[in-house]
Amino acid sequence: MTSPSPARTIAVLTSGGDAPGMNAAVRAVVRTALARGQRVFAIREGYEGAVVGGDRIVPMTWSSVGGILHLGGTAIGTARSERFRSRDGRLAAARHLLQAGIDSLVVIGGDGSLSGAAVLRQEWPSLVEELVASGQVEREAAASALPLSIVGLVGSIDNDMSGTDITIGADTALHRITEAIDAIASTAASHQRTFVIEVMGRHCGYLALMGAIATGASMVLIPESPPDVDDWEGLMAERLRSGRQAGRRDSIVIVAEGARDRQGNPISAEHVRQALRERLNEDVRVTILGHVQRGGAPSAFDRIMGSLVGYAAVGELLASPPGSEPQLIGMKDNRVTRQPLVQCVERTRQVAELVNTGDYAGALALRGTGFESALRTLRTIVRALPHPPGAGQKRFRFAIMHGGGPAPGMNTAVRAALRLLLDRGHHVLGVRNAVRGLVEGDVFEMGWMSVNGWASRGGAELGTNRRQAGDRELYQIARQIEEQKLDGLMMIGGWSGYAAVAKLVAERERFPAFDLPIVCLPASIDNNLPGSELAVGSDTALNNIVGAVDKIKTTAVASQRCFVVEVMGRRCGYLALLSAFATGAERVYMHEDGVTLADLQRDLERLKQRFRHGKRLGLLIRNEEANPFYTTPFLCALFEQEGGGLFDVRQAILGHLQQGGDPTAFDRILATRLAALSVDYLVTRAEQERSGAAAFVGIREGKLKVTPFAELAELMDLENQRPREQWWRKLAPVVELLAVPGPEAG
Ligand code: ATP
Repeated sequence: MTSPSPARTIAVLTSGGDAPGMNAAVRAVVRTALARGQRVFAIREGYEGAVVGGDRIVPMTWSSVGGILHLGGTAIGTARSERFRSRDGRLAAARHLLQAGIDSLVVIGGDGSLSGAAVLRQEWPSLVEELVASGQVEREAAASALPLSIVGLVGSIDNDMSGTDITIGADTALHRITEAIDAIASTAASHQRTFVIEVMGRHCGYLALMGAIATGASMVLIPESPPDVDDWEGLMAERLRSGRQAGRRDSIVIVAEGARDRQGNPISAEHVRQALRERLNEDVRVTILGHVQRGGAPSAFDRIMGSLVGYAAVGELLASPPGSEPQLIGMKDNRVTRQPLVQCVERTRQVAELVNTGDYAGALALRGTGFESALRTLRTIVRALPHPPGAGQKRFRFAIMHGGGPAPGMNTAVRAALRLLLDRGHHVLGVRNAVRGLVEGDVFEMGWMSVNGWASRGGAELGTNRRQAGDRELYQIARQIEEQKLDGLMMIGGWSGYAAVAKLVAERERFPAFDLPIVCLPASIDNNLPGSELAVGSDTALNNIVGAVDKIKTTAVASQRCFVVEVMGRRCGYLALLSAFATGAERVYMHEDGVTLADLQRDLERLKQRFRHGKRLGLLIRNEEANPFYTTPFLCALFEQEGGGLFDVRQAILGHLQQGGDPTAFDRILATRLAALSVDYLVTRAEQERSGAAAFVGIREGKLKVTPFAELAELMDLENQRPREQWWRKLAPVVELLAVPGPEAG
């Protein structure tokens, strides 16, 4: 690959607090730079390394970032540098950068680190002038150097930066928070005990709010939205007490570090504990999660996001003239974006300032509509009991059911939908065992507490399977809908669930009973559903695969070994490609691309060549239906037999562990958001008595969307049961570029 701009010497550094996923970003910066023929350095220990110089500025090769993708923290070190805050410190840093020939800097850190980058960029000409005037740098050397270019990437668990929807590390922090709260919830429930849990977030309640949605906590206190009464302690105690009376066994209050009351006084976890102890007259325990939230292996999302923004950072440097205005590379609406860095830093400061001055509405508005609607949904689903129905209000009867394979997050979606519907005064019926339950009338009325604890529970409590209704069973379904007097149906499921709904919709003329509002909510680990870029369950499956591959890789450390890992997905390669991205696999076999003998021969030659040059571990990921003949055992046998004794080959068919376990925080939050949208759809259509209403909900380009069911055939490749458009396929070249060294990489 050639670039039109002059060759660059790029340096990457991590600064401020460490965040899981920083390694993925560093790896991507280094490897993309090398693949594009640029020189690249790492500056160890953040800005402090630039101030000190010498061996803190290290030339990087392809292999110097090998084996770090799955590690937490940052392999190149980070620091908070007091010296860099002074002009003298920055002068020393500028001298060291110039001496190493560095003209482009990728800074990975929080808002402080990115402010530092902006200051350095702004002062750069005067720093160079001063270095020349004092004889520390030759005038010719300074004149021939390119002006400094800077790109910022946001590595911070708090998710408090303007200019990106999500920061590198926030998703992993949510993993840690949900794991910890799930664990505490089980002991709290055993003893009927109350826990107060403090999570990070000095100015930003993101982790606390999303942690509360994901775990079903009883209450959350965040900086942007203080309780709206003075006696919030009394209100909180009352809420917990009525929760207990309603049958709740665990009471959990989540407090963000920066929480405050409406006068602006800080609310500490200890204060909450004392207030509850006095009012509830019981022992209340505090857990401060602290640095656990930063630690551990990065989640699949953080590895992928870190890689994507790192890759884009180098692209940005090479596409813009030297010395251009610094840009921040972030993610908005599930796409990589660039925005002027200085503005992002300023807007971030502004939110903190609004919180400090008590303008909470202003702060919430700047956080964006997603944050606000998450807060609204949370306020409903954490209630001890629903609001009573309005006088004279029409109370509809809605049924909730599943279809398809189990997907982690199905229970979370049922819980949220049920509570939102009950809170609006409607009745909710649960259908057991998917289509069979609808045929047999295995239906029961669900109450508020019937879903207690479901927010975090894997599997599908209502039961799910792939069965479809036969022609004769359609009569029975129609009868059940009439007997149960259903006003709407919510299908939370995978492709079999969508297919079952498609059949009802197609038969509406013959069976008028089917003409009730129906909504489908995508829940499938395969992520092969129309109208949504992501399905509930796929993030959990991806993390299950990534965790398993991390372990498998460690077994090969001592030997020359190549693994062929088979993952689920039916004919959709989402899990295969994304798990390859997150684990650094060098080859992905997917049904979408097909597999030919020529491909396999090329892969074999490439493996042999790399093992001959010192490679110790090979990793290939194969989608379960990539090719019916070139199966996983076949690939293993072929590579083993033809590998010339350079390596062993082992297969790992991951199987059902991929569907198992509790849903990730992301899947729980997605399930909750989609459930809220589905509820809105059903209730509005039922109120309008709209016939012919059927739709599927989803998330596209970061926005919640409703798509009419009539578009199903257009959107789906029905033969292969996957969407015609698969947004993630364009990631394939990046996956390969970061995993396989080209001849340029050296
Ligand atoms: P976190 O989100 O984890 O707190 P951060 O990047 O905001 O990360 P800070 O401690 O605020 O962490 O900043 C990290 C480093 O960036 C500082 O130690 C300092 O070296 C540099 N820095 C921050 N602000 C400035 C500034 N205004 N001018 C120069 N350098 C700065």
